[in-house]
Amino acid sequence: MTVQVMGNAAVPAANKIKTDLHEILDIRHLTDSTFVLRIERKGLEFEAGQHVCVGPPNGIHTREYSIYSAEQDESLEILVKEVENGLVSPSLKKLQKGGYVVVEEPVGYFTINKDHPKGQKYVFIASGTGISPFHSFVLSKDNLDYTLLHGVKYASEAYDADDYEKGRYKLCASREGKGDYYGRVTDYLRENKFGMDAHYYLCGNCNMIHDVYDILEEQGVSTDNIHAEVYF
Ligand SMILES: Cc1cc2nc3c(=O)[nH]c(=O)nc-3n(C[C@H](O)[C@H](O)[C@H](O)COP(=O)(O)OP(=O)(O)OC[C@H]3O[C@@H](n4cnc5c(N)ncnc54)[C@H](O)[C@@H]3O)c2cc1C
Repeated sequence: MTVQVMGNAAVPAANKIKTDLHEILDIRHLTDSTFVLRIERKGLEFEAGQHVCVGPPNGIHTREYSIYSAEQDESLEILVKEVENGLVSPSLKKLQKGGYVVVEEPVGYFTINKDHPKGQKYVFIASGTGISPFHSFVLSKDNLDYTLLHGVKYASEAYDADDYEKGRYKLCASREGKGDYYGRVTDYLRENKFGMDAHYYLCGNCNMIHDVYDILEEQGVSTDNIHAEVYF
């Protein structure tokens, strides 16, 4: 916590803390472990694909979370998976509506290049909560020509699947045959090519990202067309 020293007494730097603290407006639980935290935006500017560092109000620890909501929304949303024995995500899960979180300025370069031609084809490939920046892309940009491949273990992890245009969202569930594809997202990609002109955005765990890179390179996709955000 930042303090201002006045005489001998150390008191909280109220102005500094105030600008970093954002009220929790809502918590939406999507599964036992995953939830959407809707928080006050307080004028923060961001581009879809960027992330914010968020943490509990009195803690010194924060973690990066991609912004889940749209650029034009009044509030800010993040999609969080509670990691067992994690330092920050379990504390975020315990917070209540009306409480506060620390939010830092949005940062990051995992954004859609404004120089891409109109009608550019995109393939978004996510594992788990790695779907978050793509949710923001899709809600922020009009007429986006995309296919979203979402790799999860169970179909219950199809977070807000109805927010995507019909036919554009492909749920790849590796542990049960309830999605669009029974198997890993990487196997889906091996069996379904999207071409060399598409731009590929990969987000989630590093094993998935490495495997997808290899598959795309084997398919002849230039690395200039591959963009990645590694979560862990
Ligand atoms: C740019 C960026 C954006 C991110 N965006 C999101 C997001 O939108 N939503 C989200 O839920 N997380 C996101 N993360 C991950 C997040 O920052 C934290 O790492 C995660 O919440 C765990 O933090 P923790 O303090 O609870 O666990 P820690 O105490 O930091 O870590 C415990 C262990 O869990 C591992 N771990 C981290 N995330 C996961 C996971 N999802 N599943 C399994 N193991 C994991 C870590 O590698 C570490 O070994 C993002 C990470 C980065 C770098």
